[in-house]
Amino acid sequence: MKAVIVKPGEKGATFSDVEIKEDQIKGEEVKIKTLRVGICGTDRGIVNGKLDFARPPAGYNFLVLGHEGLGRVEEVGDKVTSLKEGDLVVPVVRRGCGKCLNCKIGRQDFCETGEFVEAGIRGMHGFMREEFVDDAKYLVKVPRDLGELAVLAEPLSNVMKAFDELIFIQKRSIWHCEDSSYGCRNATIIGSGPIAQFFAMTFEANRFNVTMLNRRDPNEIEEKISRTVGYKFVNTSNGLDEVPESDVIVDTSGYPSAFIPLIKKLKRNGALILFGTVGGEKSEITSDMITKFVEYNIVVIGSVNASKLNFEEGLSYLSLWKARYGDVLRSMITKVVKPEETQSAVLDKAKGSIKTIIEWD
Ligand SMILES: [Zn+2]
Repeated sequence: MKAVIVKPGEKGATFSDVEIKEDQIKGEEVKIKTLRVGICGTDRGIVNGKLDFARPPAGYNFLVLGHEGLGRVEEVGDKVTSLKEGDLVVPVVRRGCGKCLNCKIGRQDFCETGEFVEAGIRGMHGFMREEFVDDAKYLVKVPRDLGELAVLAEPLSNVMKAFDELIFIQKRSIWHCEDSSYGCRNATIIGSGPIAQFFAMTFEANRFNVTMLNRRDPNEIEEKISRTVGYKFVNTSNGLDEVPESDVIVDTSGYPSAFIPLIKKLKRNGALILFGTVGGEKSEITSDMITKFVEYNIVVIGSVNASKLNFEEGLSYLSLWKARYGDVLRSMITKVVKPEETQSAVLDKAKGSIKTIIEWD
C-alpha cells in the first residue's frame, strides 16, 4: 500500500509503495481507511533524522510516519460492539508494555518500564498510509458534528492530560477561588503554535485569565484566535513588564532561555508545566531559582502523551469550541497537503503557520 515512510536516523521522508504484513481482521480488530493525518514537531524531528528514539517496528527497515490520525471504519471484527462501518475514529498513539500496572489499566502514558511503542514514532507503524488495522480498544469514536476537525484530537489530548495533572497536583492546597472557580488565577503560555493555542483555550474554558507570549507580534491568525477566545498576546522581545504575575506558566517552546526568566513571575504555590522539547540550548540553574522554587512551593510538571480518556475529553472540548468560536478551529489548520507533499510540508514549515494536515481521500 501507499505510505509515507522514513528511515529513522536519516533525513527525509518518501511516499512509497510498501508491504505491511496485516492478516485478516480478527475478533476485536477494526479496519480503518485513513482520512486525515496531522503533522507536528515530533514528525519534524524524525524527518530531520534528529529524534534519536525513533525506530521501525520489529522486522522492518522503515517506519510509517504519522501519529495524529483520523480515519473511517471500513470493517469490524465479530467481537466489536463499540464501532460500526462508517464511524469516524481517532487512534491513540502509545501502546503499553503489558507488564506494568499503569499499562495494564489503560494508562500507558504513565508506563513505568519504558517498553511501550508509539505509532509513527517508535516501534510501531504510524497512520500516514492508505489504511490500517487496529484493536477497537485503541480507537476513539468521533462525535458526528466534528468531522475532519477531529484530526486535532491527538495534539489536544496531550494538553488535556497536562491540564488534568495540574488540577490534580494543585489540590495540595486550596487553589480554586473564593467562588470555587479559577477566575482569580493567571495562566501564562509561552509560544503560539497549536499546542500553545490549545493550552490557552483550555485554560480560558476553565475561566483562568490567559496571557500568551512570543518574541514577536501575533500574526493575523493568532490575532484572530486570541481576540475570539479572549486572551492577551504579549510580545516579549522588549522585556517582560507586561507579563502578569502567574499562578501557572506553560512552556511549549523547549527553550530554557524562554521560560527561565519567567520563573520570577511565578506566584506562591504556582506551577511550571514543561511541554516543549528541543535540543541544543544550554542554560544555568542558579541558587536564586532553587530558593524561589523552595520558598514559593513551586511544582514543575513534565508531561507527555495521553490516555484514551484524554482523547475523549479533547473531542468534547473540540465540540464546545466549534460551537462557541465558529471557524476559529478551522483557521488553525493553516495548510492542507497531499501525501506526496509530506516531506516538503514537514521540512519547510512556513513562519507563523499553525497546523499542517495531510488529506488522504
Ligand atoms: Zn508499562
